[in-house]
Amino acid sequence: MSPPRSVQELVDLLQEIEGRGYKAYKRLQGPWSFDGFLLEFDHVQGDPFADPSRVRVIVEADVAGFDPRAYANEERALGVAALLVRTFRHRAREAATDRGSGKSGTIRMEDPGQVVLPQTAVRVDAEGGVEARFAVGLPARGRRISGHQAVRLLTDDVPGVVRDALMASAHPPEEVERCAAANEDATLLREALEDRGLVAFIADGSHLPRRSGVDDRPMDPEEVVPFQSPPSLQVTIPLPNAGDVTGMGIPEGVTLIVGGGFHGKSTVLRALQDGVYNHRPDDGRELAVADAATVKVRSEDGRAVTGVDISGFIDGLPLGRPTRAFTSENASGSTSQAAAIVESLEAGARVLLVDEDTSATNFMIRDRRMQELVPSDGEPITPFIDRVQDLHTHLGVSTVLVIGGSGDYLDVADQVIRMRDYVPEDVTGQAMEVAEALPTGRVKESDAPLPSPEVRRLRRDSLDPSRRRRSTYVKVPDDRTLLFGSDTIDLAAVEQLALRSQTRAVGLALASVARDFPDVGATVSRILDWVEERMEEDGLDALSHRRLGTLTAFRRFELAAALNRLRTLQVE
Ligand code: ADP
Ligand code: MG
Repeated sequence: MSPPRSVQELVDLLQEIEGRGYKAYKRLQGPWSFDGFLLEFDHVQGDPFADPSRVRVIVEADVAGFDPRAYANEERALGVAALLVRTFRHRAREAATDRGSGKSGTIRMEDPGQVVLPQTAVRVDAEGGVEARFAVGLPARGRRISGHQAVRLLTDDVPGVVRDALMASAHPPEEVERCAAANEDATLLREALEDRGLVAFIADGSHLPRRSGVDDRPMDPEEVVPFQSPPSLQVTIPLPNAGDVTGMGIPEGVTLIVGGGFHGKSTVLRALQDGVYNHRPDDGRELAVADAATVKVRSEDGRAVTGVDISGFIDGLPLGRPTRAFTSENASGSTSQAAAIVESLEAGARVLLVDEDTSATNFMIRDRRMQELVPSDGEPITPFIDRVQDLHTHLGVSTVLVIGGSGDYLDVADQVIRMRDYVPEDVTGQAMEVAEALPTGRVKESDAPLPSPEVRRLRRDSLDPSRRRRSTYVKVPDDRTLLFGSDTIDLAAVEQLALRSQTRAVGLALASVARDFPDVGATVSRILDWVEERMEEDGLDALSHRRLGTLTAFRRFELAAALNRLRTLQVE
């Protein structure tokens, strides 16, 4: 690598190429030594309308100047890194100046949303050094280089944002500590669940509702009813920073969340599904956590399913269609929900979340009358109500269900939580009395325990990330669509993908499986393990040599979800 050039050399170069064709910007490639940091161009855009140029800034620990407590462990450093990303984006918006045509003058860093996860936009390392990755639009007039504007952008705007975002001096020390502490606490809180026999915990005072269905930011605090745990489910967990935290613990087993429409049932379930991630301070869900292996499962008619053994739920389809290796280009509501459950178990889920709002009714329940009218030899579905206890007793997998409509589920519940005016009550005792007083007359449709699903071996060569002349084509046109080779993977129903940058990382991970996974045929869990191991060793940069600042860590479950929705997938 060539030694870094000086800022004066940068200014000279930009003045020299003023007015030339845009391609002359390619000479910016490489490192530049600024006062207090190193700036390196990893990719210089080919024209003013193309994706902006990718830049990396490295600030040495002594210059960054953070208190060692800020990076004392990985969780603290992640909390601080997320603060730096948010601040950088804020300062970049303030500094934004139109410096010509196309994207001239933009300074752009990937949106971290409300979550705190390992990401490549800003990293605070174990010694307190800071690395930031972002994009800048190199200025042009038409398609000619605007060198004078480039001097302002690169020697004023960018260094200003770097100083006002990435250095300790830009932040009140108590804010840095708050971000570090909140993230450390959230991770420890999640890790405390298992020993206490809990699958989730929501602290009293949490603000669960979001601004809207498409906006993950908290609802206006004036309108929120803060979370308040019912006394019988109250648990107190000590945390290193927040001290003793009290809230509702959801025990293992089968838990129902019941209540009238609009009383906050789905909002609680959503907090659980989002509780697999940590959240930024002031989000309202900082202390609402779920077991890391919690997966929301739902119906998704129309999706592709490849070789999944759904026979534990659905058997004897019309025309003798096999369900020990069920394949469909166009799954129904019930088959898609059965597949989602089996795929989650295959990936290692320990907790399933089910909301009646997004479930297939015939998958969830068949009541007494329907059992009479349509005998089970004419009905291929063993409804979830007859499997949910098995899942726990035989496989150790807990389920939390939102049920407003079918009281039949009271028979299979270990806990029943009723939401009223956004306040949870423990009505387990009452539910048992109701179940006894009003028997449903339903007969369980299967006495045999849930069979272990048949193990799938995927054909790695059915994963093809190439498109025309590109060996790897991975694009994320919107948060929930992944273009992978010539396939379009619809992830609209994969609710636990939180960010576009996660979807992008998932796509690159699939490409790395196609390219580098050592065996042609392997089980899904082996493939997921392999990706996880690589991520643990080399981090997100294992996914791409291009030093992207636009990647966020993902779970094995979301990787599996994308893999399972590939329409070209084949099993052996
Ligand atoms: P349900 O699933 O029981 O029908 P939802 O969870 O969808 O109800 O909530 C209904 C509405 O109430 C939503 O608009 C949601 O944002 C709002 N909401 C939920 N919980 C609270 C709360 N704790 N405080 C204020 N509003 C809430
Ligand atoms: Mg609902």
